[in-house]
Amino acid sequence: MAAARDLGSFDYIVVGAGSAGCVLANRLTASSRHRVLLLEAGGRDRNIWIHIPLGYGKLFNDARVNWLYSTEPEPDLNNRNLIQPRGKVLGGSSSINGLLYIRGQPNDFDHWRQLGNAGWSFEDVLPFFRRAEDQERGADAMHGTGGPLAVSNVSEPHPLCEAFIEAAQQAGYPRNDDFNGPSQEGAGYFQLTARNGRRCSTAVGYLREAKRRPNLAVVTGALASRILFSGRRATGLEFRQGDTTHVAQASGEVIVAGGAFNSPQLLQLSGLGPAALLQSHGIPVVADMFGVGADLQDHLQVRMQYRCTEPITMNDVINSWRHRMAAGLRYILLRKGLLTIGAGYAGGFFRTRTDMETPDVQVHFIIFSGDASGAALHPFPGFIASICQLRPESRGSVRIKSADPARPPAIQPRYLSSAFDCDTVVAGMKLLRGIMRQPAMRHYVAEERAPTLDCVSDEDLLTFARATGSTVFHPTSTCRMGQDAAAVVDERLRVRGIDGLRVVDASIMPTVVSGNTNAAVVMIGEKGADMILQDAAASAPVAISA
Ligand SMILES: Cc1cc2nc3c(=O)[nH]c(=O)nc-3n(C[C@H](O)[C@H](O)[C@H](O)COP(=O)(O)OP(=O)(O)OC[C@H]3O[C@@H](n4cnc5c(N)ncnc54)[C@H](O)[C@@H]3O)c2cc1C
Repeated sequence: MAAARDLGSFDYIVVGAGSAGCVLANRLTASSRHRVLLLEAGGRDRNIWIHIPLGYGKLFNDARVNWLYSTEPEPDLNNRNLIQPRGKVLGGSSSINGLLYIRGQPNDFDHWRQLGNAGWSFEDVLPFFRRAEDQERGADAMHGTGGPLAVSNVSEPHPLCEAFIEAAQQAGYPRNDDFNGPSQEGAGYFQLTARNGRRCSTAVGYLREAKRRPNLAVVTGALASRILFSGRRATGLEFRQGDTTHVAQASGEVIVAGGAFNSPQLLQLSGLGPAALLQSHGIPVVADMFGVGADLQDHLQVRMQYRCTEPITMNDVINSWRHRMAAGLRYILLRKGLLTIGAGYAGGFFRTRTDMETPDVQVHFIIFSGDASGAALHPFPGFIASICQLRPESRGSVRIKSADPARPPAIQPRYLSSAFDCDTVVAGMKLLRGIMRQPAMRHYVAEERAPTLDCVSDEDLLTFARATGSTVFHPTSTCRMGQDAAAVVDERLRVRGIDGLRVVDASIMPTVVSGNTNAAVVMIGEKGADMILQDAAASAPVAISA
């Protein structure tokens, strides 16, 4: 075998230029004191559909920017294999996601703190959310301006969304114009991570600026294959670019930011994980850590489909070349209209039971319909409202199937494996039907196409959820932060028992946040960078003047 090419030494090596990785690359190079190598398995973010918000639907099945993972057969979903798209491009999943800007609930972070993770209460993390943000509505106690991550309103209201919000009010829920404000509860429009009708991924918001710095090296098409150790200290990284193997040394730290599937995979390939699993693939064990790849959590959504009484949905635009041309022109000239829509237009957060302290389900309301995410739109007016449980109890895993880093790991979320989750999903579907039956929505609902009104009992609804439920793309917690024996990282995101190694991405969340995950991952990147720089400053030799 040819000797590996040596790229030399850096202060920090960051694996993965995704939501968190781009934040790290920017913040760690800002002072110009540290040399950083950023490795990304995917390529540059040149695909035009990355930058047009509606284009996310075109990226679901595009192997040039997407890992195109799927789960193992899911026992509680009729043994179906569910798609699991993940960004494989600069910006990672923030380049292919649905752009919705939701942070989660303050209680989520207070819960992280209550689990023993000092520095992660809502009061602690709010400054990092604000620092990241460039909020179109201006700054206030909850929001920031001038940060790299642009957050904007939808470009214009839509009659169907107005009707949904009004129907929610008729059903007794408040209108909410800021899901990231003092209360998450109620119905309203989502905000998007976009500026002037274009996506603001972390590659756009954070990396573009940082790439100009001479102390940042970005290598694309580079698949990290193994972390190198000296005893229990991470000293560098091995990666593949095409047929060539490279190595690079880290005098400071190796920081893994490969996301909830790839980070535990890389740790396991490198000898950190359940010993029996590693040994079964002939991987020498550096540390027997049964928590690496455990505790996978995700949001399962159940999509309810409606035929609309009026031709005002996106189906009607996409299925007519004249309307398509008009929508394209409107976007080019005004940056408005259908091309600016993300994965949800309006939506809401609701409590399925009055004894819940905060909302436990989220609705994504979209003004188009198709049989699955990314599938062709129906040839008639239609829309979809999906329900997802915000704090599932079901836990799954990510485990390597091979010692070959190019082979995907086994992803087994175990959706609906908890009775509590089944009850909540069914209650959520009934809640959503309650909103759809209000006068404001009744006007637009010609027919409930799925699950259909034949589906009445709780058992029927659960059968439908098991037959059709799919991910909302929020996997987390596979390298969970915590103080217990199964926790992978501590509250400073250092891998337990190993020096010079951190994980900074969605995989460290102790529990999935109550909402879409990108904003929280950007916050984790901001806070992670802050801690790394603090620790570097604390360990720097002190100059003694005579
Ligand atoms: C289709 C879709 C829709 C979504 N919609 C929304 C939404 O509307 N709002 C929201 O808030 N969240 C949404 N999310 C979720 C959100 O985007 C993710 O939670 C977030 O981007 C995860 O960030 P991360 O840094 O953990 O991982 P990622 O952003 O996935 O970054 C990981 C990066 O590491 C790279 N990498 C992995 N392994 C290696 C390796 N071995 N070597 C080199 N590079 C590697 C990957 O290619 C990738 O670029 C969506 C996600 C998807 C996939």
